Amino acid sequence: MADEFRQLLEATLRHLEALKEHGARFVPVSPQTLEALARPPALATSAQPAPQVSTPPMPIAPPPRQPRADTMTTPRPVDPVPSRTATPKAKALSELRERALACTRCPNLVKFRTQVVFGVGNPDAELMFVGEAPGADEDAQGEPFVGRAGQLLTKIIETMGLSRDRVYIGNILKCRPDMPASEPGNRKPTPEEMQTCIPWLLDQIEIIRPKVMVALGATAMEGLLGGKPAISHLRGRWHEFKGIPLMPTFHPSYVLRGNDIHKKRQVWEDMLQVMEKLGRPISAKQRNYFLKGGS
Ligand code: SF4
Repeated sequence: MADEFRQLLEATLRHLEALKEHGARFVPVSPQTLEALARPPALATSAQPAPQVSTPPMPIAPPPRQPRADTMTTPRPVDPVPSRTATPKAKALSELRERALACTRCPNLVKFRTQVVFGVGNPDAELMFVGEAPGADEDAQGEPFVGRAGQLLTKIIETMGLSRDRVYIGNILKCRPDMPASEPGNRKPTPEEMQTCIPWLLDQIEIIRPKVMVALGATAMEGLLGGKPAISHLRGRWHEFKGIPLMPTFHPSYVLRGNDIHKKRQVWEDMLQVMEKLGRPISAKQRNYFLKGGS
């Protein structure tokens, strides 16, 4: 019986490894199964009936870090479940991520950060968004653009007919810029910090090779192309980064300030250009968002 149990266990482990290899992050397991698995093997091999397999899902990979209560926003999946087989790009990105998560190039940021915020999305994405750096929410959750600005970015992506797990989202800086304990909020990364961290982003871009990139805000443009650009002068026009068409637009947090419909329309016009460049269909309704008479 012990041999049969060991064989069964090994077969189960092989099956779970194969599922994980193919991108699965959860399998359905009943509470009874979890209870049985927690028992010593001798008990598990007794003549009890095999536990029923049903919901809820049990993570194969370690569960995502829980957000702190003071930074929690609306409930959302921390890491979208990939539905496709792992591609060479996914493997390369995953290896890069492992190395980036252990990065200690900036001692002050290493001391301050909760974790490295590598990036999120589809390794085979045609569209890549680049922001400046993680803020408090992103540092807590380990994912870029998850605070209020992130929710607006998600809305923009969905209005384009896409979803967060079909695009890729990364930042110039992978660790939250440190702040004095007495000061709330986030700060802009320094040029030195951006220069130190940019190789990670360059490697991400090299692996993903998106068809189009969008720079969110002036700091993202500064990190990519250098200089001290005024985003209001740069946005709405195509630039190029490493041979990839690059569209700068306002950072979502700037758009949130003042709730200005004119700014929203400007960002939306930039995204219409991105959709055209990607060859995506655009409905009349989409064309008219944030115009008089539009939605
Ligand atoms: S900011 Fe970038 S370079 Fe600096 S420690 Fe974090 S990951 Fe490393």
